[in-house]
Amino acid sequence: MPSKRTRLIAGNWKMNNDVPAAKELAEALVEKVPASDSVEVVICPPTIDLACTSHKIAESAIKLGGQNVYWEEKGAYTGETSCGMLKSVNAEYCIIGHSERRDYFHETDEDINKKAKALMAAGITPISCCGESLEVREAGTHVAFVVDQIKKDTEGLTITDPSKYVVAYEPIWAIGTGKTATAADAQEVCGAIRATLAEIFGQETADGIRILYGGSAKPENIAGFLAEEDVDGALVGGASLKADDFAAMVEKAAE
Ligand code: PEP
Repeated sequence: MPSKRTRLIAGNWKMNNDVPAAKELAEALVEKVPASDSVEVVICPPTIDLACTSHKIAESAIKLGGQNVYWEEKGAYTGETSCGMLKSVNAEYCIIGHSERRDYFHETDEDINKKAKALMAAGITPISCCGESLEVREAGTHVAFVVDQIKKDTEGLTITDPSKYVVAYEPIWAIGTGKTATAADAQEVCGAIRATLAEIFGQETADGIRILYGGSAKPENIAGFLAEEDVDGALVGGASLKADDFAAMVEKAAE
């Protein structure tokens, strides 16, 4: 049965591109990324680039996302970005719980859960990341590890529109390493994620939630991941910084 879920290709620029470089990449993406009803395309630049990127993509089908958010509305939280600030630049998505934030900035599942609740209350779709380390993968406990993350990250969430909550499965050992999981590896965990979401929110809601794969995804391997039943798109790091590669990935997802 063909999936009812619209595919999603999201680019995570991480801490790359100053304002002039962001404008240049956004312009190239507007020119090269094909518009398609069957794929939603999101780019997530650094916070400093959100306003100029928003302006550049305004007339295109490309949507904007943040890379992080803080759950409080405003106040003395130096260096943080609120949901309202993301909305003011027309961001419709926001990555939360990326493994780099969990590892380097000590974000916990409790933090990620608070961020998801704040974003959803503000009408911004979280792209909530999960994934295991190499150590966990080698111990063979990766499915249980990710299921536990999903349970903690979604605790107390109400999902009324399943297209407005996205999960990204990103095995840490495959991020930025050039080492990809196999399509079967991705399906094993993405299938377990959907089953967990079904236990929590019911099958119908779980069937509407997009689950992305992330970890050295590129034009050469994306089709294999997308062929899997529970993989609905990709969260792309390195390859999202090259307009030709990112456009090629969107093209493959639209096929
Ligand atoms: C990411 O950072 O979300 C990611 C998947 O990076 P890369 O594609 O470079 O592995």
